[in-house]
Amino acid sequence: MYDVAVIGAGVVGSLTARALTRYQLSVAVLERAEDVAMGTSKANSAIVHAGFDAPEGSNKALFNVRGNAMMEETAHELGVPFQRNGSMVLAFGPEDEEKIQELYERGQKNGVPGLCILTGDQARETEPALSPDVTAALLAPTGGIVCPYELTIAACGNAMDNGAALLTGFEVTGAERTAEGWRLSARDGRTLDARFVVNAAGLYADQVAALMGDESLHIHPRRGEYLLLDRKEGRTVSHTLFQTPSVMGKGVLVTPTVDGNLLLGPTSVDLADKEDLSSTAEGLAQVAKLASRSVPSVALRSVITSFAGLRACEDGHDFVLRAENHALHLAGIESPGLSAAPALAEEAVRLLGEMGCPLTPNPDFQPVRPHSPVFRRMDNAARAALIQQDPRYGRVVCRCETVTEGEIVAAIHQNPPARDVDGIKRRTRSGMGRCQGGFCGPQVVEILARELGIPMEQVTKMGGGSRMLAGPLGETEEEKA
Ligand SMILES: Cc1cc2nc3c(=O)[nH]c(=O)nc-3n(C[C@H](O)[C@H](O)[C@H](O)COP(=O)(O)OP(=O)(O)OC[C@H]3O[C@@H](n4cnc5c(N)ncnc54)[C@H](O)[C@@H]3O)c2cc1C
Repeated sequence: MYDVAVIGAGVVGSLTARALTRYQLSVAVLERAEDVAMGTSKANSAIVHAGFDAPEGSNKALFNVRGNAMMEETAHELGVPFQRNGSMVLAFGPEDEEKIQELYERGQKNGVPGLCILTGDQARETEPALSPDVTAALLAPTGGIVCPYELTIAACGNAMDNGAALLTGFEVTGAERTAEGWRLSARDGRTLDARFVVNAAGLYADQVAALMGDESLHIHPRRGEYLLLDRKEGRTVSHTLFQTPSVMGKGVLVTPTVDGNLLLGPTSVDLADKEDLSSTAEGLAQVAKLASRSVPSVALRSVITSFAGLRACEDGHDFVLRAENHALHLAGIESPGLSAAPALAEEAVRLLGEMGCPLTPNPDFQPVRPHSPVFRRMDNAARAALIQQDPRYGRVVCRCETVTEGEIVAAIHQNPPARDVDGIKRRTRSGMGRCQGGFCGPQVVEILARELGIPMEQVTKMGGGSRMLAGPLGETEEEKA
């Protein structure tokens, strides 16, 4: 019997699990995928929004502003890069100027610090690549960027280091109220008892709530497609540049990422299928066109990959935090859910406490996650010392992103352990560069097989049946003869 079961190892579930380990509680994280950060937290714009978008008094506004303020310390403790690069919402004429004035006023009401409106020329002074058509810009100095899956992995890892259990491949398909709490059952037949349950199942939070007797939520997916540009384009702009938002979202942005790439997107298309992550020619063309409107010189020839993410849109279009019957549903956590996640986690603990979950501080809680060396971020002297200590850091496996064998081995043995090629990619960036894994892929397969003690044919791209190799090569006709 666990004290708390958290369903879903996205950024919200992982940070909530971590927040719970600050107390003397046994915590289990149940994730249907075979790794953490496999849902919406894997593919989004990676912006820590300042908090001027959401209506005053909404949960989105409240937790966005609070989460933004908490992000710096959270990222620092977890060893995750975070930059307060500031954001601008661009106006292209009088109509947009009215909108940014509205956003400015809303931001003031929401308590966003430091907002100001620049003229087009003032904006171009700090961002020379901006279009000459930009007539004004709302500057938010507290806007930031973070890597969403790195944050999720680190949060879950820190929760595990502090005693939480992670059960992957555990898709909750049944829930039964017991005398003490809940018995959750998984598709594969496993069961788990917990006194309290946190439902942080993202796109599926409505279905999980329904299993627990609350059928009032309805979530549909809204897809956003992106183009990612090579690191040589990462300095095209320094701020995150938005266009004015509409009811469908915050519009197409141009932003640097914490890893030095340039990101363009997303589109905004309502769908019925919660698994449809396909990118489309029309969607990507729209991204390219709209991004070029903000930054005409954007180097589309440097696109290295495209991807899509799915927003979990609840009918009420606000974050739902509903505590009832020993369960806490965190649903409809669409944007700005990444920004809000540290604050949502804090609030989740408070709400569990109100439901009777005992919150006795854990004196052994370690907020700082010990993380293994990141070779590309070290200077040459530090690199030489590290190689002396462990020669595996002297073998560069991914040349595009300068990732060493030492880092890949560490990712396999650190919490939460990487078990497949994409898991290595999200933890180390091996395969994230210009060649998208063309060179390092085979070596990563070899290292995974060696460290996990499995044949290479059993190494997968992303769990399940996604094997990288069909099997050993058969004899050629010549060899047979
Ligand atoms: C296109 C796009 C752009 C965005 N941009 C931003 C941005 O710039 N800034 C920002 O703040 N926010 C942004 N967001 C929103 C942000 O990504 C989300 O709010 C956040 O990732 C939600 O995290 P989560 O943990 O709630 O959900 P998820 O990351 O989806 O995690 C839910 C987890 O639950 C698991 N799960 C589901 N069902 C079950 C089950 N039955 N049993 C067990 N496990 C289950 C899933 O596998 C998944 O891992 C964006 C979203 C999208 C799609």
